[in-house]
Amino acid sequence: MNGLVIEKPLPTADGDSQAFWEGLRSGRLLLQHCADCGHVQYYQQRICRQCQSDNLQLKPASGKGTIHSYSVVYRAPGPAFKDDVPYAVLLVDLEEGPRMVSSLVGKDFDALDFDAPLTLKIIQINDEVSLPCFELAINELHSS
Ligand SMILES: [Zn+2]
Repeated sequence: MNGLVIEKPLPTADGDSQAFWEGLRSGRLLLQHCADCGHVQYYQQRICRQCQSDNLQLKPASGKGTIHSYSVVYRAPGPAFKDDVPYAVLLVDLEEGPRMVSSLVGKDFDALDFDAPLTLKIIQINDEVSLPCFELAINELHSS
C-alpha cells in the first residue's frame, strides 16, 4: 500500500478565503451575500462585484444546484489524477445564483444532462482541505 504517492495540487487558504475553507471543513459551502444590493457571490472577495460594497455576509449555500455544463475527462491532466479518470467536471448553477466549477461524485456519466438537479457533497481530502463536489440529485431516489 505504501507505493509512490503523488500529491495533487490543492488550494491554499489566504486571508480572504480562510473562512470559506473553514466552512467546508465544517461541512458548509459558504457564499458571500451583499447586504446592500443582495448580490450573491461564490469565490471570496473583499467587496461585492456588483456594487463594490464591503458589507458582505457569509451564509451557507442550500447545496442545491443544476448542471449548466459538464465535461467528462478521460485523459488525466497530470500523473496525480491518473487514478481518477474518467471523471466529470461540472459547471454548476447554484440555487442562490452563483456559477461554480466543481466535479461529480461517482461515475454516472450517462445520467449527466443540462439542467439536471445536483446536491452538494463535501468531500474531505485531508485535515486541511475539503472540496465542494456534487452528486446527481436523482441518485437519492435510487438509494434506500
Ligand atoms: Zn452589492
